[in-house]
Amino acid sequence: MKLNDENLKIAIQRQGRLAEPSRQILKSIGLDFEYHQGRLFSPCQNFPLDILFLRDDDIPEYVQDGVTDLGIVGLNIVQEKAAEVVRLDCLGFGSCTLSIAVPQKSSFRTVYDLEGRRIATSHPRVLQRFLEEKKVSARVIEISGSVEITPSLDISDAICDLVSTGSTLRINDLEPIEVVLKSEALLIANPRSLKDSRRRQLMERLRVRFQGNIRARRTKYVMMNAPREALEEIKEILPGMKSPTVVPLAEEGMVAIHSAVPEEVFWDVIERLTKTGASDILVVPIEKMVM
Ligand code: ATP
Ligand code: MG
Repeated sequence: MKLNDENLKIAIQRQGRLAEPSRQILKSIGLDFEYHQGRLFSPCQNFPLDILFLRDDDIPEYVQDGVTDLGIVGLNIVQEKAAEVVRLDCLGFGSCTLSIAVPQKSSFRTVYDLEGRRIATSHPRVLQRFLEEKKVSARVIEISGSVEITPSLDISDAICDLVSTGSTLRINDLEPIEVVLKSEALLIANPRSLKDSRRRQLMERLRVRFQGNIRARRTKYVMMNAPREALEEIKEILPGMKSPTVVPLAEEGMVAIHSAVPEEVFWDVIERLTKTGASDILVVPIEKMVM
């Protein structure tokens, strides 16, 4: 099988934390492709797109150099590689922080306590920049993996590593003291591809789909019954896209109200709704949302 030059190309992680969610998001925006372990690329059956499966570290440079037009990779890697790519959208998965952590029994409490100390990391560039901002001079030791064991081997005094739940740190008797960067998976693009009108059009089509997927995951569809006189108050509470859908019920004076509610205010909205007399509140996930 050979790559088709006319096709758009996207790079995603082959194996690891972003691999499955990246394939998942491509499937959920309607792209039909096959994936087998060990495969390096897959043509898409229903869109002029080839999907390349790579190590995440290589993705920013591949996109920068135009080997692929698009890529899905963590912000942490984009920053670390300082690649010249356009950041199109945050994709809402792969969330983690790049944090400085120290042995629990140490006396280090802030980054300033690490003056003159050794910090091991696989993100030397991002860490160095952070230390410069904080005006702390510490020795940055670059390690490509298993950074968390370096303090117990006395290779380092602290580490700077990716953390999501913190359980790996706890297992190694480490605790986080400083957040260096908050990261999540991004859709990135090659700047020259964005200037080519044919490629740009294809990218825009994909982007509308990505955004529809992201918005849908961040929103719930809420349905409820309520007395008609509570309608004005309920409309005030609902931060919906436009005005809610209101349908009269068979029972005199009652209406059904439907609206989309963003995830971040969801529980607050539900609590306030129940106080207005709204009842039988149903919440359903939204599959796609195109505005
Ligand atoms: P590759 O073989 O592709 O180089 P890797 O071992 O470098 O893989 P993974 O551990 O799969 O990378 O992590 C990929 C990305 O997942 C990270 O760069 C980061 O953006 C994100 N991520 C989310 N949570 C975590 C976490 N707790 N630890 C590490 N990475 C995380
Ligand atoms: Mg990697």
